[in-house]
Formats: sequence, C-alpha cells, structure tokens
Amino acid sequence: DEVLRLSGIEKGYNHGEPNEILVLRGADLTVGRGEVVALVAPSGAGKSTLLHIAGLLDTPDAGEVAIGGEVMDLRSDRRRTVIRRREVGFIYQFHHLLPEFTALENIVLPQLADGVAKDAAEARGRELLDSVGIAPRAEHRPAALSGGEQQRVAFCRAMANTPRLLLADEPTGNLDPTTSDRVFDALMRLVRETGLSAVIATHNHELAARMDRRVELDEGRLRPVA
Ligand code: ADP
Ligand code: ADP
Repeated sequence: DEVLRLSGIEKGYNHGEPNEILVLRGADLTVGRGEVVALVAPSGAGKSTLLHIAGLLDTPDAGEVAIGGEVMDLRSDRRRTVIRRREVGFIYQFHHLLPEFTALENIVLPQLADGVAKDAAEARGRELLDSVGIAPRAEHRPAALSGGEQQRVAFCRAMANTPRLLLADEPTGNLDPTTSDRVFDALMRLVRETGLSAVIATHNHELAARMDRRVELDEGRLRPVA
C-alpha cells in the first residue's frame, strides 16, 4: 500500500547555461503506509529539491510522482494543489509560523482554508497541542515560545489536515541537541500514533537510526543505507 512513489526523477537548475546544475539524476523512492524513511545527504545534495517535488511544490524535469497511488498530472496545478493540501504535511528547519497569530490559530487556519468548521478545527488543534505536551501554550504567539515549542506547533500545523504523508526538512536542525532529541521524540510519537508515512531529511545519524529505513542521496540518485 504505497503512499508515495517517485520514479526516475530528474531535476536541474539554470537550464541551457554553462553552469547548469543537475541536482536529481533518476531518483527512485517508494514509501509504504506507516513507513518512516530517513533521507540522509550532505548539504547541497538536493534534499530540499527532492522533498519539494515529492510534496508537489515543484515539478521534475522528468520522472513520475504518485501520491496514494495516483500518478500526478504535472501539468494540472489545480489537482496538485488539492492533493498537496489534503495529503501532504510539511515541516521545515525554521517553523514559519505566522507571528501575529497564536499557536492554536496557526493550527486552525489551514483547517479553515480546507473547509473545516471553526469549533472542530479548534478541538483538533487543542488535541494536537496536547499530544506534543504544549496544551498550556495554545494562546501564546510564536515569539513567546521557545524554539522547541515553536517547532512542536509547526508539527501540529503540518498534521492539522490529517495528511497521509509528512515531509520534513531538517525538522530539528535549528535546535540544540537536547531540545532536538525531545522534540524529535514528540514528532515520532505523533507520527506513530497517526500511522502516518514520513520522509525526514536529517544530518543526524542517531535520529536517522531510529527511523524504519534510511536512504542516501548521492550524485542525484537514492540508494539504501545500512
Ligand atoms: P539540500 O537541501 O540537500 O541542501 P537543495 O535541494 O537545496 O539541497 O539544493 C541542491 C542544489 O541545487 C544546490 O547546488 C543548490 O544551489 C541548487 N538549487 C536549489 N534550488 C535552486 C534554484 N531555485 N535555482 C538554482 N539552483 C538551485
Ligand atoms: P495555502 O494556500 O493554504 O497557504 P498551500 O496549498 O499554498 O497552502 O501550501 C500548502 C503547504 O505547502 C503549506 O504548508 C505551505 O507552507 C507549503 N508551501 C506552499 N508553497 C510553498 C513553497 N513555495 N515553498 C515551500 N513551502 C510551500
């Protein structure tokens, strides 16, 4: 039961210029339901490019992206936007929370945009905040929260629309090691409880070791790591 399949993904930048950069050169990846995959690679290898293509934020030059078994028509922006909002949650190294809204509002807003009623959206938001241990912070704005708390709110926002696939780009990369471990624990618990599939890019080999499977991005292709 595949949630994500990337086949033969190619992507380059600066097309036709002498300094053309080929970032992805035939990347393949299949992620099953409930599977958590670590994406390991040095900086500049193309992790963000790959995650953006997997999350339908960017299109490949060649290859196929399928989400939940549906092969995406890369020419149809509208369908891609619908699938992205419904099926995919993103977490970045920096939280990207809206500064003028509270933690709860940051989790409620994407649900309202998706047509969820306000009461239901708030109930879901509080439940998510509670599940990562920061229910008492619901009415605080991001600036009043610690880095670890901000990142937990960002996880909750990513989960708000109950996606099938979570894509995370160095989700704890901005935190000190102790906070990173604690926040990563909270993320993994949330992922496991919801049976979500995830691709999590990280430099941290200890965190990678805790995931189901590791893949390495090397010269534009993905290969398994022991
Ligand atoms: P990573 O996330 O592994 O650090 P990225 O996917 O961000 O890697 O970048 C991979 C390569 O592609 C880098 O050489 C980067 O400079 C280049 N790149 C990324 N995005 C763009 C862009 N929009 N235009 C030109 N080059 C880009
Ligand atoms: P909305 O229209 O509700 O703002 P989108 O459908 O545009 O949401 O985006 C869905 C998710 O993708 C959000 O988590 C958003 O932060 C993220 N996103 C949208 N565009 C980009 C982008 N260009 N780069 C990185 N993330 C993006």
